[in-house]
Amino acid sequence: MKTKTPKDDHPHDEEDAIQGVAILGSTGSIGVSTLDVLARHPQRFRVTALTANSQVERMFEQCRRFTPEKAVMLNLQAADILKAKINQAGLAVEVLSGMEALKQVAASPQTRIVMAAIVGAAGLQPTLAAVRAGKRVLLANKEPLVMSGNIFIEEARKAGAELLPIDSEHNAIFQCMPYNYRTGESHTAVRRIFLTCSGGPFRTTSLAALADVTPEQACAHPNWAMGRKISVDSATLMNKGLELIEACWLFGVTPEQVEIVIHPQSVIHSMVEYLDGSVLAQLGNPDMRTPIAHALAWPYRVDSGVKKLDLFDIAHLDFEPPDLDRFPCLRLACEAAHAGGTAPVVLNAANEVAVEAFLDHQIRFTDIPQVIEHALSHTSLGLNADLETILKEDAMARGTARQFITDMKHDVKREAS
Ligand code: NAD
Ligand code: MG
Repeated sequence: MKTKTPKDDHPHDEEDAIQGVAILGSTGSIGVSTLDVLARHPQRFRVTALTANSQVERMFEQCRRFTPEKAVMLNLQAADILKAKINQAGLAVEVLSGMEALKQVAASPQTRIVMAAIVGAAGLQPTLAAVRAGKRVLLANKEPLVMSGNIFIEEARKAGAELLPIDSEHNAIFQCMPYNYRTGESHTAVRRIFLTCSGGPFRTTSLAALADVTPEQACAHPNWAMGRKISVDSATLMNKGLELIEACWLFGVTPEQVEIVIHPQSVIHSMVEYLDGSVLAQLGNPDMRTPIAHALAWPYRVDSGVKKLDLFDIAHLDFEPPDLDRFPCLRLACEAAHAGGTAPVVLNAANEVAVEAFLDHQIRFTDIPQVIEHALSHTSLGLNADLETILKEDAMARGTARQFITDMKHDVKREAS
């Protein structure tokens, strides 16, 4: 929760003990950027645990460079291979595997800060474990918050955990919020949030041409280098829809208070408008090391390695409204945000299934919103769901989406024959 006020901007006057950092999803885009920032500040942070799904080679290199106390691979075979390599190299790193181990390192007393950078709903349980253990949780992994924001905010409050946003837009909003604002609570001085959006790689692509775009084109984002799932989300604009829901939970605002603005340069990372008409913005080069360094050191400031902003080089900033006809995923997400309850759970689950199928060349780019719309129209949307219900809804929506994709593929085959 945001309770501290900065005393000064010098990083070395408080507790001064080196802080233990665990990275959930260390082999991914955010994980790698986090290690880059941590490596710049060995006097301030040490790596206590690294976790990944199955990327053994990269994990081994990270263990060699940072010697965490623990390394967790979700995948058992991957953990066995890693263990053999670690033993051979004589490194003092304990290798574990499975979901329980992920939860255990997220809640470990050796760790003060947890970077939640697993992709998708898979990050829900370990991130929640970190929240319940009262950690400073750096929240990159937005999907769990979209699914169960009420639970995250409530558990963070109970455990005294600090939820600090890493998503560049939400980190920007956090930096522009009133000094006495508290995470998840609405603030009467705030009128609106401008959530900026690059528009993705298909900002100017026609609706007709969108049907034929490839996963490679969708993953080639103009401004940011990211994992494949969030890259596709950025291309469909679902990412902005998930971020709208994320903003509502983190900043206690209604969907009506969030205005989505296409801003192709990705220099303004978002803005907060106050009752008196003031609009505060946070600017910077599009590099995730800025929000990562901000949240790691908050309320202080440390070097992130990000190059300085050159305003003369940028020269001008553009703004336009989003086109919901060409990007129906954003419309579906706005509708789910308004519906509330388990609608965002279904939206997120069906989206994860559809994006995977698109990346796997099973469906077209323009099929993604169809899969999601189908899943949303085939569930009864409950309000005030507990965690068990949320996980059940998530599994059911995945089943519905997968079945729809299978039926779609059969239809295509029948048409072709
Ligand atoms: P990525 O695909 O590059 O990395 C994902 C990481 O999670 C990897 O370390 C992978 O091993 C691990 N992982 C994947 N599936 C897992 C599973 N089932 N169980 C345990 N671990 C698993 O993804 P990314 O781009 O780094 O994004 C991570 C999260 O951060 C996403 O939720 C994304 O929306 C969010 N985010 C990313 C960016 C960015 O610039 N990349 C920006 C804002 C928010
Ligand atoms: Mg973002």
